[in-house]
Amino acid sequence: MRVASIIINRPAKQLHKPLSYLLPEKFGDVKAGTRVLVPLGGSREEGILIGYEELLEKPNFTLRSIIDILDSDPWFTSEMMDTAKQISKYFLCSFGDALRLFTVHKTLKSYDAPKEEWLVVTAEFNIDQVSPKKRKQRELATYLIEVGGAPKSLLRAKGFSYMVIKQIGEEKGIHIEKRFKDTKTAFTELLSGEESIPLTDAQMTVYEPIKKTIDLEQHETFLLHGVTGSGKTQLYLKAAARCIGKGKTAIILVPEIILTDQIVRRFVSTFGDEVVVFHSKLTISERNNNWERIRRKDSHIIIGARSAVFAPAEDIGLIVLDEEHDTSYKQEDMIRYNAKNVALWRGKAHNCAVLLGSATPSITSYYKASEGEYKLLELPNRIFDQPMPCVQIVDMKEEMIRGNYSVFSDAMMELIQCTLADGNQMIILLNRRGYSTFVMCRDCGETIMCPHCEVAMVYHQAGEELRCHYCEHHEPIPTICPNCHSKRIKFFGSGTQKVEEELRRHFKSARIARLDQDVTKHKDVGEEILQDFRNHKYDILLGTQMVSKGHDFKDVTAVGILTADSVLNIPVYSASERAFDLLTQTSGRAGRGDKSGTVVIQTYNPLNYAIIKSKAHDYLGFYNEEIENRRALGYPPFREMIYMVVRHVKEDMAEKIAQKIVDELEQHFQSQPIDFNGPYEAGIKKIRDMYRLSIMIRGEDLDAVKDYIYNSWIFTQEGLLIDVDPI
Ligand code: ADP
Ligand code: ZN
Ligand code: ZN
Repeated sequence: MRVASIIINRPAKQLHKPLSYLLPEKFGDVKAGTRVLVPLGGSREEGILIGYEELLEKPNFTLRSIIDILDSDPWFTSEMMDTAKQISKYFLCSFGDALRLFTVHKTLKSYDAPKEEWLVVTAEFNIDQVSPKKRKQRELATYLIEVGGAPKSLLRAKGFSYMVIKQIGEEKGIHIEKRFKDTKTAFTELLSGEESIPLTDAQMTVYEPIKKTIDLEQHETFLLHGVTGSGKTQLYLKAAARCIGKGKTAIILVPEIILTDQIVRRFVSTFGDEVVVFHSKLTISERNNNWERIRRKDSHIIIGARSAVFAPAEDIGLIVLDEEHDTSYKQEDMIRYNAKNVALWRGKAHNCAVLLGSATPSITSYYKASEGEYKLLELPNRIFDQPMPCVQIVDMKEEMIRGNYSVFSDAMMELIQCTLADGNQMIILLNRRGYSTFVMCRDCGETIMCPHCEVAMVYHQAGEELRCHYCEHHEPIPTICPNCHSKRIKFFGSGTQKVEEELRRHFKSARIARLDQDVTKHKDVGEEILQDFRNHKYDILLGTQMVSKGHDFKDVTAVGILTADSVLNIPVYSASERAFDLLTQTSGRAGRGDKSGTVVIQTYNPLNYAIIKSKAHDYLGFYNEEIENRRALGYPPFREMIYMVVRHVKEDMAEKIAQKIVDELEQHFQSQPIDFNGPYEAGIKKIRDMYRLSIMIRGEDLDAVKDYIYNSWIFTQEGLLIDVDPI
C-alpha cells in the first residue's frame, strides 16, 4: 500500500502540516490534488491528497487508511497546489487555508459537479415515430414538442419514469444533452463586438508588446499607466480576445464588482457566454457552476473581484488587474493575502502575460517598473485628447475665518448650483457614512463609546440609533449622558446621511441618490442606483469611496470632494498614496463625455503634496516625492513589513504573549538589520471585547523571519493576526 500525504480541509492552524494515510489498493492510482475522506480522531474529515511519501522504515505507530475518494478528477492542478504553498509561506497562513482559497465553498460538504440534464426536441420530430401503444412515451414527446425541451428532474417530477425518458431519448430527432443549470450569461442581444473597434495610434503602441507576449506564450508583467479615460479597458478587451483566440483562459480582476459594472458590461457585451462573472453575491451553486464552466472550458474569460484570481483554469493565457493600485486586492480578514501577488505567481507558472493597469499605479509597482522588473506602458492622454478636469482647492480654514461653518464651501455651493442649472450631473464624495460621526455630552465631554470596542458610536438616522462600525452593537440614542446625567447631548461631525439632508435643504428640486455601505448591504440596490444615475434619474450622486472608482458616466461634469483630510490623516505609511489615488480617481469621474469637467476639493491641508500634485494631474511628480520619503523612512518598496496583532480577552495576557513573540524574534535575529517594534497598543485598543497589542517588523528581506515564524509556536498562537505587507 502507498502512503499518501493529506492536508485536512479545515480552518485550524494546528492542522497545517500534512498527515500520513495509507491508500488501499482498491482505489487504484489516485492523483495528487484529489479530495479524499479520512478518519481523524473519532470523526471523518475531508482531506486533500497532496502527494505520496517514501516510507524508508516501518513507522512505530499504525497508519490509518483513506476511507473514500471524493473526486473523479483531481480538483487541484499541480500549479494550484504549488501556488497555495507559496501563498501559505509568503502570507503566513496554513497550507489548508491557502488550498481552500481555490475551492468553491469552504465547508466540508462535498461539491458535486452541478449537472442538469435536458431533453431537447428538434423541430423535425414527428410524433408518429412513436407507436400509439407507448402511451407514456407519446405523452412525453407531445409535451417536449410543445415546450422545446425540459430538464430531466422536471420530467421525473411530472411522473415520467427513467425508462420512459431514456427510451424517448433514443428516438431520432430527440437527444439528451448535458448542460449546467443556470450558468449561461445569456446577453447575446447585447453583443457589440466592441473589441473590433480600431485602436488609436497610442493604444496600438501599447498593445503591440502585450500581443507579442500573448502570442509567444511568454511570461511578462506589464504596468499600464494610463490616465482615466485613456482607453485601458479597450486594451483589456483586445488582449482578452487575443488570449481566447488561442484557446486559453483570461482572468480579469476588478476591485469590487459593484463598482465596476461598467467593465463587466463591456466584457459581457463583447464576449457573451465566453464570460463568467464571479462576485460575492453569487449563491454557492452559482459559484459551483461558474467554476465548472471554467474548468471544462465552456467559457474562457472570468471577470471578478480578488477571489477570481483562484479560478480553476488549467491554461491561463492572460491575467489583468484593473486599477492595480486598489487596496481591495488585499483581503483584510480571515486569510490575509494579496491577489496581486497571486496573479504574478500564477502568471509565471502559466507562462503568460500579466497586465497591471491604473491611472495611479501603486508606488511599489511603479518602482518595480522603473527598476525594469515590470515593463512600463503609458497612455498619457485621454482618448481623442479630451482635456483633464479643472481642479480647484478650497482651504476650509479660510471658509471658517469668513464665517462659513457649513460642510459646503462657497465654491462648492456655486459648483452644485451651476451643474444643476446646466442640467448636468455631479458626484459628491464624503468618506464617512452614517449621520453624525460621534455623539458627545456638552457638559462633561463624554463621548458615547461602543461597550465592546474602543471606538465612538455613530448616529444613524434610519432606525434612530447609534451603531458601532466595528461590531454589530447598536443602541438607542441616549437622552441623558451616561457619565454626568446631563441632558445636553450633541451630535458632531457629518456623515453621508447628514450631508444628504443638507443637500436636500439647499437644493430642493435636485434629485439626489446616496451610495454607501448602509445602502448597498441590500442586494442589488447599489447596482440599481448606479444604473438610475447613468440614466439620468438623479442629478447628484453622493457617497463614500464607492462613488470614486471605475465609473464612466458621460454626463458627469462636476465632482465635489468634501474632506480630502479624512484619508490624509489615517495612521499608515501609505496615507499620502491613498489620498492621491482617491483624489485623482474621483476627479477622473468628471468630464468623461464631450463636456469638460470641474472639480472642487475641500481640505484643511491645502499645501499637502498629495493634494497639490493631484490637482495638477501630476502622477510622476507625486511619485518622485513619495518614493524619496519612503526611501528616507525605510518603508516599502525599500523594506518589507509584517504587522502582527495579538488579541486576547485579558489585557495582561495579550501583553505577555506579544512581549514573548518580540523577545524571541529579537533574540533569534539579533545579528541582522531587522527592526522588531512593539508591542504597542493597536490603533483601536479593543474590538469585540478582545484587547489588541501590535508588533511591527521591518527589514529589507523578511524571508528568514517568515520561515522562522512558520515553523514555530508563534504560527499557531491562538488569537494572533499576521498581516504580511500591510497596506
Ligand atoms: P479607461 O479604461 O482608461 O478609463 P476606456 O477604455 O474606458 O478608458 O476608454 C474611454 C472611452 O473611450 C470609452 O468610452 C471607450 O469606449 C472609448 N474608446 C476607447 N478606445 C477607443 C478607440 N480605439 N476608439 C474609439 N473609442 C474608444
Ligand atoms: Zn456628561
Ligand atoms: Zn463595537
